Amino acid sequence: MTDAYSLLILPGDGIGPEVMAEVVKVIDWFGANRGMTFEVGHDLVGGAAYDRHGVPLSDETMARAQSVDAVLLGAVGGPAYDDLDFSVKPERGLLRLRKEMDLFANLRPAQCFDALADFSSLKREIVAGLDILIVRELTSGVYFGEPRGIHADDNNPDNEGGRVGVNTQRYTSGEVRRVARAAFELARKRGNRVCSMEKANVMESGILWREEVQWVHDNEYPDVALSHMYADNGAMQLVRNPRQFDVIVTDNLFGDILSDAAAMLTGSLGMLPSASLGAPMANGRPKALYEPVHGSAPDIAGQGKANPIACILSFAMALRYSFDEGDAAAALERAVEKVLADGVRTADLMGPEDGTAVSTAQMGDLIVAALAAEA
Ligand code: NAD
Repeated sequence: MTDAYSLLILPGDGIGPEVMAEVVKVIDWFGANRGMTFEVGHDLVGGAAYDRHGVPLSDETMARAQSVDAVLLGAVGGPAYDDLDFSVKPERGLLRLRKEMDLFANLRPAQCFDALADFSSLKREIVAGLDILIVRELTSGVYFGEPRGIHADDNNPDNEGGRVGVNTQRYTSGEVRRVARAAFELARKRGNRVCSMEKANVMESGILWREEVQWVHDNEYPDVALSHMYADNGAMQLVRNPRQFDVIVTDNLFGDILSDAAAMLTGSLGMLPSASLGAPMANGRPKALYEPVHGSAPDIAGQGKANPIACILSFAMALRYSFDEGDAAAALERAVEKVLADGVRTADLMGPEDGTAVSTAQMGDLIVAALAAEA
């Protein structure tokens, strides 16, 4: 008998509501067939919230997000909101969620389903069966460090143009340790290996990063295999032999770049889930936001063409990381794999030679049917 799992669903804009409708089918299936009790609330974020409240995330929605086990987000943004003031742009709603929930660990799996290996920018033999997880520190580092800014470079007559731009890479040991712990915990649920990436050869913050990750390992996770790699070499290794990795942990800047590079190993944007996790709450579950990597895809919104798999796989991550339902998560991933192996494709997964694409709703229905068939 499990406790109820509380979820707040924020579909957002564009294809967000379309792909989220398919996740709701999956949630309902697990509720009806796996003895799980979900308490599901729905609310607005992004442009949809701006239209209703004049802000991309209301205080009430923010408070609801803080009170649930997991937030599921679709996507935000769209051309109708492009000219809004920066302070109320749809993305600000997402940033507020991440900041106020203090979601410091961003999880980006790069998993290559066999049926889609030919969609990768790399050769099939390099990516088939790929299953790695990049853990990016999300709330500190050079994107947040002070001092920052652009100012006059007075007293430097040799500087043509006369200005200087400054950002500061800054990490505390506590910030490194908490994201390292997240990576080691995740590794224990997977292949039990962590590779930490920084630039300890040229950056003091990189030396600190390396030492603190090692400290957490030696004192708390000696059972997990830990290696260190310079981030530039990491980028090379990701395209040379990505399957050598299990969990990669890295800082905000390197993680931003490395996770996008890893994403391309797997083919379509419509396939990529993500999770952002924070500190444990009173019930032991981490603060958590799950969302597909893709945006609101205004070019195909409202046409039933969107691929719901990234959003569905984001819910699989919620099952695994918020609710410790690893078996259910794996069953859902197998259902996705089965449907793809059967040749079912949304338009984004089709080559010129392929047959007819299924709609967003048909893809969702077939994944639920595959779940039921496996049971
Ligand atoms: P996008 O990810 O929305 O779309 C890029 C391309 O990929 C488009 O051709 C789109 O049709 C396709 N695509 C994306 N998701 C798909 C899916 N599930 N199925 C099939 N095809 C899919 O990126 P963009 O076009 O640069 O941005 C559109 C809007 O989304 C902008 O307003 C942007 O600010 C916003 N955005 C939001 C997020 C987010 O909510 N996390 C992320 C990125 C962009």
